[in-house]
Amino acid sequence: MGELRKVWAGDTPSGAEGAWSVERSVGGVPGLAVCINFLDAKEVEAMRTIFGSHRTWAQYSYGTARGAKGLLAVVQRIDFGPEGLQAEGLVGGSPVWRLGKARAALLQLLGDRLRRVFGEARLWMETQPDTMQLTKIGANQKIANHLDRRDKWLEGIATLAWSELPCEADLRGESWTLNMEIGKGPTKRVAKVPMQPGSAYVLMGAAQGCTRVCKRKCVGHSTCTCCWTHGVDMVPGASVTRHSMTLRVLNEDSDDSDDDDDAEAAAEAAAADEEGQRADAGETGKASAEGGSKGGGEGDGGDEDDDGIEMAAAETETEAASC
Ligand SMILES: [Zn+2]
Repeated sequence: MGELRKVWAGDTPSGAEGAWSVERSVGGVPGLAVCINFLDAKEVEAMRTIFGSHRTWAQYSYGTARGAKGLLAVVQRIDFGPEGLQAEGLVGGSPVWRLGKARAALLQLLGDRLRRVFGEARLWMETQPDTMQLTKIGANQKIANHLDRRDKWLEGIATLAWSELPCEADLRGESWTLNMEIGKGPTKRVAKVPMQPGSAYVLMGAAQGCTRVCKRKCVGHSTCTCCWTHGVDMVPGASVTRHSMTLRVLNEDSDDSDDDDDAEAAAEAAAADEEGQRADAGETGKASAEGGSKGGGEGDGGDEDDDGIEMAAAETETEAASC
């Protein structure tokens, strides 16, 4: 955290005119806003240090790989939530660690800049991000398309991404693809949005599909024809792991007792999608390129016993002090 503070450029762009400019409705997706160059190379390097200080990565399945690409829909994740949230417990099979002081400070730092930069998109006007998710996606992995649980999160999901290692063309790493989809069968639309390392993107409105903004008021992970799903594809020939940090706002009215994980939902959505595609023969070519799934996706990491969780929590707390 000290390293990041030292290099942190604050909330006001000091560089060229148009720095931190935000493009909205990117790829024709209403509610998707993107800011390239959100993090500079020094800030990314500090973020890598923070990622490197974490050891409690849990593996999440986003559906089963298929097709010639051989991509695994599996990622490594750590979730942090506010004090009040069933700390170091299992939320629907997902361990959620307490934020702690250092991470709360990090959340504040990133949250402030995000709110400033995405002000025109009205990000978090009346709310405050209170959870943080760290994700690593290997060069041969991906996140299948899904909706984050619609009634669990309030509007506004912000993600920053970069690569684990610097690359020749850009010290912040390699580009990747945000895959947005809506509809099924013949009416299905896909927007593949190229994303640069160090950029930030925000999902709101139809791009996120939270219950309050969905025309059908959908809950859980159910799909509709008015909201978009999102997924992550690495570019062909990708050689480095993608790092990302996602900030969200918990809906306090949401009932977490029967929570299921977003990853599990991705598997379900992909399976449903696959069925839809099977029914629609015209789509088969595209379907195999999109790597859906069937079954799988327990998405838990919940096979740790209580002792395991506590030990991991203690470890995390120690690390928090050093980052
Ligand atoms: Zn909808």
